[in-house]
Amino acid sequence: MSKPTIHIIGSGISGLRCAEILLESGLEVKIYEKSERIGGRMKTDIVDGFLLDRGFHVMQTGYPHSKSEIDFKSLEAKAFNPGARIINTTSGKPKITTYSDPFRRPFSSFKLLGAERWSDLIGMAKLRVSLSRMSIKKTFSGGNASTYEYLRKFGLSDSFIDRLLRPLFAGIFLESKLDTNERLFRFIFSSMSRGDMVLPRKGVGAYPNRLAKSIGFERIALSTSAFADDPMTINVEGQRKTVDQVVVAHPSPSEQKSMRGVWTVYFDSPRSPVPGKFLLLNGDYEVGKTAIAHMAVPSDVQPSYAPEGRSLVVATIVGDAAASLNLSNAEAVESRARREIEQWFPDCENWKTLDVQHISAALPSHEGGIDLPFSRPIDENGIITCGDHMAHASMQGAINSAESAANEVIRRIQHRG
Ligand SMILES: Cc1cc2nc3c(=O)[nH]c(=O)nc-3n(C[C@H](O)[C@H](O)[C@H](O)COP(=O)(O)OP(=O)(O)OC[C@H]3O[C@@H](n4cnc5c(N)ncnc54)[C@H](O)[C@@H]3O)c2cc1C
Repeated sequence: MSKPTIHIIGSGISGLRCAEILLESGLEVKIYEKSERIGGRMKTDIVDGFLLDRGFHVMQTGYPHSKSEIDFKSLEAKAFNPGARIINTTSGKPKITTYSDPFRRPFSSFKLLGAERWSDLIGMAKLRVSLSRMSIKKTFSGGNASTYEYLRKFGLSDSFIDRLLRPLFAGIFLESKLDTNERLFRFIFSSMSRGDMVLPRKGVGAYPNRLAKSIGFERIALSTSAFADDPMTINVEGQRKTVDQVVVAHPSPSEQKSMRGVWTVYFDSPRSPVPGKFLLLNGDYEVGKTAIAHMAVPSDVQPSYAPEGRSLVVATIVGDAAASLNLSNAEAVESRARREIEQWFPDCENWKTLDVQHISAALPSHEGGIDLPFSRPIDENGIITCGDHMAHASMQGAINSAESAANEVIRRIQHRG
């Protein structure tokens, strides 16, 4: 008897990981991908010898699935330094402050006491103690308020939040008010306190490529749109057929409309403006007044991101910040980014713009006050579905949902005998 074949729509990391588990369980899979490349939102393009991830993207070694399933050695991943640098211009001149490791060693910032209040450092230490050992499932239980409200409960001041946590988490959640559900904050913070932010040698697209290789490229049909009519009927480019099981591994067009957007500006610079492998946060970040949440120099961390003797500089502009300044096209975003960067690094006039990218449906939004479950494998039509939109906005969310979806497939197939 031939093996049941599971038809998976979408080759982002959730569809690929779901396929990998199903193959390991003895089932057969067929994947349909509407675009010409696998990877979904995790892709890396090569432009003039630079590696441009689609939007600034990192892998977190502290995610639970990273520890059990990702071979960072074979991806030749290299890590950012654990802290962050903050640049501000309140005194007129740009000033850079380094927080060497606020997630693992909050008091490593002792020397910053001139800049910070005791209560903020103690608040960060309390956050660290309460979150660093929390299991992923536990981070997704308990309170459901916004991240901002959650941070205030730890006694953190508005000025500390605005300088460090707002630009950092705006760039992670892709929203600047910190309205995102505190459960996602707990999960990300605890992961950051357990591991590093890393970049693979060939860019973040190397991870889905690795998954696709283990599945077998012959099982993936590219440039092929498919739709699930019901849990066991698939429509592939107009051809309808009954199959053993369908898994939808992408957000629907209507779900995409409510997703958060981001602009990313990529520059070729003759040298790194801030050597040191830190993320550079905009300490003056304020929606309506500034655009850039943070900047990074991926080639300082992973030299393969730029040709020899050049540096790749990446500026992240969250969708709400761009909208508040009426930045609605690439020219406007680039010129605004250059104006802000000029105040920090006047020699940016020598930087060449490599690309300006807009991703309108980058991450699902999870507002505070609305239940954010760990993961759910079935959509409202009873169709098995996976993707970060079925769990939470991160690679880990996409992988969790892939595992839940694969388990549900196996349960249904076994139930049918
Ligand atoms: C700019 C940016 C930065 C990010 N940074 C991080 C980060 O630093 N850390 C982190 O953990 N996560 C990050 N993420 C989130 C992470 O990339 C996503 O959670 C993950 O890639 C989502 O994978 P997915 O499989 O759920 O969906 P997707 O990647 O969206 O995959 C869905 C796939 O389905 C295909 N598809 C859609 N409709 C059809 C159809 N009808 N037929 C066939 N195929 C179809 C699509 O073309 C796509 O390839 C970031 C995301 C973005 C955009």
